[in-house]
Formats: sequence, structure tokens, C-alpha cells
Amino acid sequence: MSLKSIANYINGERLPPIANDYLDTINPATNEKITTLPNSNKYDLDLAINAAKKAIPIWQAMPMSERASYLLAIAKLIKKHKDTLAELECIDTGKPLQTTQSVDIPRAAENFEFFAKCANSDFSKVYDMQDKGINFTQQKSLGIVACISPWNLPLYLFTWKIAPALLMGNCVIAKPSEVTPLTADYLAKLCIEADLPAGVLNILHGKGNKIGQAIIEHKDIKAISFTGGTETGKHIAQSAAKDLKKVSLELGGKNASIIFADCDFEKMLATTIKSSFSNQGQICLCTSRLYIENSIYEQFKNSFVAAAADLIVGDPYNQETTQGAVVSELHYNKILSHIEQAKAEGAVVLLGGEVKKVPGRCKHGFFVKPTILENLKTDSKTNQTEIFGPVVSLIPFNSENEAIVEANNSTYGLCSVVWTQDINRAHRVSRKLDTGIVWVNQWMLRDLRTPFGGQKHSGVGREGGKYALEFFSETTNICIGF
Ligand code: NAD
Repeated sequence: MSLKSIANYINGERLPPIANDYLDTINPATNEKITTLPNSNKYDLDLAINAAKKAIPIWQAMPMSERASYLLAIAKLIKKHKDTLAELECIDTGKPLQTTQSVDIPRAAENFEFFAKCANSDFSKVYDMQDKGINFTQQKSLGIVACISPWNLPLYLFTWKIAPALLMGNCVIAKPSEVTPLTADYLAKLCIEADLPAGVLNILHGKGNKIGQAIIEHKDIKAISFTGGTETGKHIAQSAAKDLKKVSLELGGKNASIIFADCDFEKMLATTIKSSFSNQGQICLCTSRLYIENSIYEQFKNSFVAAAADLIVGDPYNQETTQGAVVSELHYNKILSHIEQAKAEGAVVLLGGEVKKVPGRCKHGFFVKPTILENLKTDSKTNQTEIFGPVVSLIPFNSENEAIVEANNSTYGLCSVVWTQDINRAHRVSRKLDTGIVWVNQWMLRDLRTPFGGQKHSGVGREGGKYALEFFSETTNICIGF
């Protein structure tokens, strides 16, 4: 696929960067350049802010149902162009085409549809003071908000933020990751086709420490919805504090799965393969610390290693491929250095632990074999650091209490998974885990109405359903005295 350069989307138009400064975007499965993207600066941001300011009165005055109809129109266009979008996401991320076809792109359309339906929500609450008066609440838009997203689920996470922000009447300055800009650029084309009013959504491309930094510092931006690494999240929180901007921070994880001997072994095994290696382990929700009850440790280890060895690492275009490339050369080197560190810490490598050479057009690509480690304690560096790759660590435990203490021994607190057939234990354990999400006998079962987010260094705030709508709005209580 040969592609024209990516453009910014400002005031309803696709524009080149003012400074004519560009970056390359690379296909990590082949290590070939795909195209260039704007390395935008604060002057591009000024254009976008001015466009958003002009659009605010029109967009805010529009009935919510009408704003929702634009979201539905965009969802329809995503579905119409799903094959192109799936291919763009595949070449930009290196993940298997069948994953972008079945997960990334359908979910991007679903995000717009889901939030469009939220226009029917019961937003206002009433607090009746009987003969003295009545209170009711009103949700108002914030004005201009920023949506900043990472590379692991590019269009999926980008639209997860933009859709609720737009529904609530905000104008948006959105920045996709510079590592994976292709589908955000295509979304701009679809917004033009959907006749989205100019300036309502503005998409700026470029580096985090340049255009990203300019966005988070801009005085006219009232709220920042960010998904990405914990260090970037802390930096954004500090910067936002100066102007008391609202922040929603969805950050890193080091998620534990606790596997009790009484689990449904076959279901647990198949799901744990997915929770460990889906998207090459590059999902914030992937489990990378597996705690296994001692009595089934050997059985689990042998079955898990055998099942992971059957995963097919290869060309993302092949339909049988389950594991594609990791997202970039930089990230590939980071994963490999974590594996070396694990070995230095005394890890026994049960599977993988090295690169995978894929012949043919992918011979220069960045592929890592699914890697299973054992013999590392919970407080080892490997088990405390987010690797964000296809690397998991097996740790045996003897008692329920020990498993809970070990699982909670992390600076992160995004999600955890519990495998048991004992309903009482399921309740007991899941209530004691310090994570924003606990799955019992499941993983990644998502209802978009539920609160999504992490505790501790995994983030601040919740996305999803009414939580996102509340974040992207301000509440006023109106009290009428009699
Ligand atoms: P990252 O923090 O490097 O970048 C994320 C985004 O922030 C990018 O668009 C980047 O350009 C931008 N950015 C970087 N510096 C910035 C700055 N100073 N100001 C403003 N924007 C800036 O993260 P990444 O490497 O793209 O993504 C991987 C991380 O994302 C992992 O830690 C993963 O766990 C996390 N993640 C979390 C969730 C969640 O929901 N909790 C979901 C997906 C990914």
C-alpha cells in the first residue's frame, strides 16, 4: 500500500503542518517506511484552537440528539470503510490483520454508536425539598477538551474518547500516537464525508513532547483525557494542576491472574493464553503475572507452555497468524532488554525469550516469541515493571491469602483475573484486590456502560458510559426556592 502524507485536520480541512516539518511512520512487520506525518507545533495548535472557539457556540446550541446523529453517521462510514481501516491499522501496528478486522475497527464504530445512544440518558437529577424548593442538576459542556491516545489500540482508544466528548457538546483537539497515525488521518476523511461542522473535531499529529506538550499547556483547554504510560500521565497531571484542568488518566498495568486448583481448567487455559499474548501482550489489560495454586502448578506450566508454543508468530497478512510484530524497533529493543534483565535476575525461560525471524517480506520486522518465565519473586524488577510485550511470569502460591497479598504487591492497579469455581471464594478474593477491574472466570468481557480505569499508578478517573459523560461535562445544581 503506498500512501500520501498524513495531514492535520483543522477547521474541517486536511492541512499540512505550518512549519512543513514531517516524521516517518514505519511498518514494524517489514521495517519499511509507510508515509510521513506532520510534526506539528504550537502554531498548528493555535489554528485548531481558533477553529474550535468558532465552532463552540454552534455545537453547544445543537440538540444532543442532533450531535448524536453525527456520531451515527461517522459510525456508518467506519463500517463502510472497514476493510481499508483494518489494513491501515495492520500496517501501522504490525498486529494481525484478522485482529484489526475483528476487534479494532468494529470497536471504533461501536464507540460512536454506543455514545450516540447515550443521548437518551437521564442526565438531570432532582432533589425535592418539598415545601421549601426543588433542586435539579444540569450537565453543561466544558468548551475545548483534549483527547490524547497511545499506539496499542489506535482507532479503538482514540474514538473511545472523542465520541463522548463530542456528544456532550465539547469541541475536541485530538492527538493520536505519532507511532500509529494512519487510522486517525482516515477518520478525518470520514468526518469530512459525514459533514461534521468545521472546528468541532481537530486532529493534530506529531510528537508527544512537542505538539502533545503544547496541547496540555494550552490555557483554552479545559480537560485532558489521556491514555498512555504512567510517567507521561504523571507529567500531564503536574502540568494540568497549574490551571486546575480536569484530567482522566488511563495508564500502565502489571496485571495479575490468580488461578485456583478448582477452576474450570480448559476454559482458564484458553483464556489465559489470550489474556497473556493478545496483541503481542500490548494491551493494558493483559495479564503478565500468573499466580497458580501449588497443587496444579506443574500441570498448568506444562499445558500453558504447550499451548503458547502453538501460537503462530508471523506475517500479519496471513490469516493463520496469531502473533504479529511488536509496534516499533524502539519497543522491540525495550522488550528484549527486559527479557535480558529477567535472565540476569535468575528467571528460567520456559518458552521463547528471543526474537522470531519471519522470512520473506517480513525478514526485517520486529517479532518477539511468546515468552514464559518462572523462578522470579513478585518483588523482582521483572515482576514490578510493565513490559507491555509477550512476556509472562509464573509464580506458585499456597494459600488464598498469600495469592491476594502477592497480586496486590504492585505499584499498578488496573485489572486482575480470578479463576475459581467456588462462588464464596470468588466474592471474597475479588473484593480484596486493589484494581479498578476484576474479572472472575473471564477476561476482557466488556460492557461499555461499566466504569473503566485503574487504581494506584494505573490512573485517575474512570471512562465508559456515564463516567465518560460526566468527565466531559460540568454539573450545575439549580435550586428554585418557593
Ligand atoms: P506514551 O505515554 O508514550 O504516549 C501516549 C500518548 O501521549 C501519545 O500520543 C504521545 O505522543 C503522547 N505524549 C507523550 N508525551 C506527551 C507530553 N509530554 N504531553 C502530551 N502528550 C504526550 O504511551 P505509549 O507508549 O503510546 O502507550 C503505551 C502505554 O499506554 C502503556 O503504558 C500502556 O499500559 C498504556 N495504556 C493504558 C491503557 C489504559 O486504559 N489504562 C490503555 C492502553 C495503553
